Amino acid sequence: MNFFIRRSELRDIYEKVVAGGRISEAEALRLFETKDLNALGAIADFARAKKVGNRASFIVNRYVNYSNYCILSCQFCSFARKKRDGDGFELSTEQIVEKAREALKLGITELHIVGGLHPSLPFSYYTDMLKALKALDSRLQLKCFTAIEILHLAWLAKKSVEQTLIELKAAGLESLTGGGAEIFRKEVREQIARGKESAEEYLDVHRTWHKLGGRSTCTMLYGHVETLADRVDHLRQLRALQDETHGFVGLVPLPYQPENNGIPVEHPPTGFDSLRTLAVSRIYLDNFDHITAYWVGLGMKLAQVALSYGADDIHGTIIEEHIFHMAGAGSPQLQTETEMIKAIREAGRTPVQRNTFYEPIKILEAAAPPAATVNPAHSKVLEDNLATA
Ligand code: SF4
Repeated sequence: MNFFIRRSELRDIYEKVVAGGRISEAEALRLFETKDLNALGAIADFARAKKVGNRASFIVNRYVNYSNYCILSCQFCSFARKKRDGDGFELSTEQIVEKAREALKLGITELHIVGGLHPSLPFSYYTDMLKALKALDSRLQLKCFTAIEILHLAWLAKKSVEQTLIELKAAGLESLTGGGAEIFRKEVREQIARGKESAEEYLDVHRTWHKLGGRSTCTMLYGHVETLADRVDHLRQLRALQDETHGFVGLVPLPYQPENNGIPVEHPPTGFDSLRTLAVSRIYLDNFDHITAYWVGLGMKLAQVALSYGADDIHGTIIEEHIFHMAGAGSPQLQTETEMIKAIREAGRTPVQRNTFYEPIKILEAAAPPAATVNPAHSKVLEDNLATA
């Protein structure tokens, strides 16, 4: 048994997880409340390794925001603009195709496309965009739109959500993005994203998509006005839908970014908070294969550490990120494959380039073992001393 666990208050949860048991919401809350980050990390690492072995993945992708005009004004959002603002934008299909063409030269396999709820672009703008991108390269995977965008498009097109998704799928949509989940509890949504879809609507869009054979990711925006119990409730609802559809390929926890928006948050997420959130997500979501440490929000250094706290993916090259950076993220706009591979190898994992569905495209060489290793006998003495200390 890991020596961090042996004397930990979390030992019973560790034993339950090792035995293949599913932890309860009360146990998830205990995990969130513990200060024993080492033991929490050890449990999450066990759960991660059981799912994915020693691999950690990344994707070569590009983000495109087609427009930042939005009819809503979510309090936490630094990205949206009104038509009267001087710095709003909307891209033509040709401009989006050009961005894709340039990125294909860098080897991307995925375009990740989201925008605000544009007041006037017709439904055909979205289907034409998907078709034009597929015409450019049919192998390019199109991961597009949040649940609220789908509801908006359905409203624009005067179609049901199901019919809207069927038509987007026929035009080339391959995966929904997970954005917009925020925190599901109604009172929290009122404070940070008034006017946005309810939890039920978010989950229903993903449920409908999954039932059409589609897959998607999901998210949780943490570190603003929610409580730890709210986070557990959020994960509970995601686990329940996953039990029903098995359509989520991964969870991407998103640390709240505090700048340029209307929510006064004195203590945005720390490194400790991010690591415990990733770890609890991994342990509680026993029906998810992948947990992503989103480097844009965490910074690459913490994302790398998170690979030992339940995460098995550090997301992608991205190339051009607006949403987190307009909210004050200090990370760079892009990562190179080389930097991500290096970060994964240093963490002792085998780097895997993945596709949109977290399936391996290329498995790279694992890190070479360190030149000087700890003598196993010394390590045993250390462990015994700690156990009896
Ligand atoms: S979070 Fe999305 S829906 Fe809300 S204001 Fe920003 S762009 Fe619009």
